[in-house]
Amino acid sequence: MIQFDNVSKQYRDGTKAVDSINLHIKEGEFFVIIGPSGSGKTTVLKMINRLIPLTSGTIFINGKRISDYDIHELRWDIGYVLQQIALFPHMTIGENIAIVPELKNWEQVKIKERIDELLEMVGLEPDIYRIRKPHELSGGQQQRVGVTRALAANPPIILMDEPFSALDPISREKLQDDLISLQKKIKKTIVFVTHDMKEALKLGDRICVMKDGEVVQIGTPEELLAHPENEFVRQFVGEGQGPYIEGFSLHEILLPISEPEESMAVLPASASLEETLSLLAAHNEIAVEEDGEFIGLVDRQTVIRKLAGSMRREVKS
Ligand code: ADP
Ligand code: MG
Repeated sequence: MIQFDNVSKQYRDGTKAVDSINLHIKEGEFFVIIGPSGSGKTTVLKMINRLIPLTSGTIFINGKRISDYDIHELRWDIGYVLQQIALFPHMTIGENIAIVPELKNWEQVKIKERIDELLEMVGLEPDIYRIRKPHELSGGQQQRVGVTRALAANPPIILMDEPFSALDPISREKLQDDLISLQKKIKKTIVFVTHDMKEALKLGDRICVMKDGEVVQIGTPEELLAHPENEFVRQFVGEGQGPYIEGFSLHEILLPISEPEESMAVLPASASLEETLSLLAAHNEIAVEEDGEFIGLVDRQTVIRKLAGSMRREVKS
């Protein structure tokens, strides 16, 4: 879907922000880019919608070079959400959401339907919020509208640059949860930048760890946790740091099970975190056995969430 071939970016002052990276982001994937501040994440994102020109290499979207796309079409077909979303202050929420559909000359009836549909989707009562101005909304609500606006014209790709990092922890978790359930419904290709590993583990189908303009490792949350490529990644995912990880016990996270399926992988209840993660890299669910009996099952999501919950909130840069 989105492919980077040896892409580099050097700014005019000589800063090499991105150094010959290769990426292959799949259709419908939730792809998270994480790294310390200054590692090149925003530059990567902005090259996709041509807000920043490349110095060398090629980016393809659906097999076509981004330079071969009409710039307006490219921008309209890629939703973009920023940390401090710039909702236009003098426009109503409805008008803000309608910007790209208006540019695309949708019929007014269709635009109005779309605004209401989107507001409902993110839990903002359309009759109340459609006509409000941005300053009449909380930060969390504004960010919700920002996400909605990016989705308005139904673009296949959404870029999100630390969209929740200015929010308080509770709004942030709520929006993350909403985004997960939203993604289940809309199945977009999402490229999401963060410097919070907890957020990355929670949201990402795959996570790309960047450092100094280079890709250090790409993998699923389980792969990063179980097999960090080097010390930098190990530190970043915080392995061995949380007290929970030290005292890992499958007992704490067992889900009830009546009868395991034939084909299910099996672990003893005494398994270590590392053994559990290795097995979860290949299986979504694992039956857990103790004294010859099945006592429950663990699934990937629960383990990752539990681990993420025990981590430091943010990685210092
Ligand atoms: P991140 O989003 O990971 O914090 P950025 O992509 O914003 O990283 O920046 C990567 C590097 O490029 C940093 O060293 C940053 O200072 C530099 N940089 C970003 N934008 C510019 C610019 N317009 N001109 C010069 N250097 C820049
Ligand atoms: Mg950035």
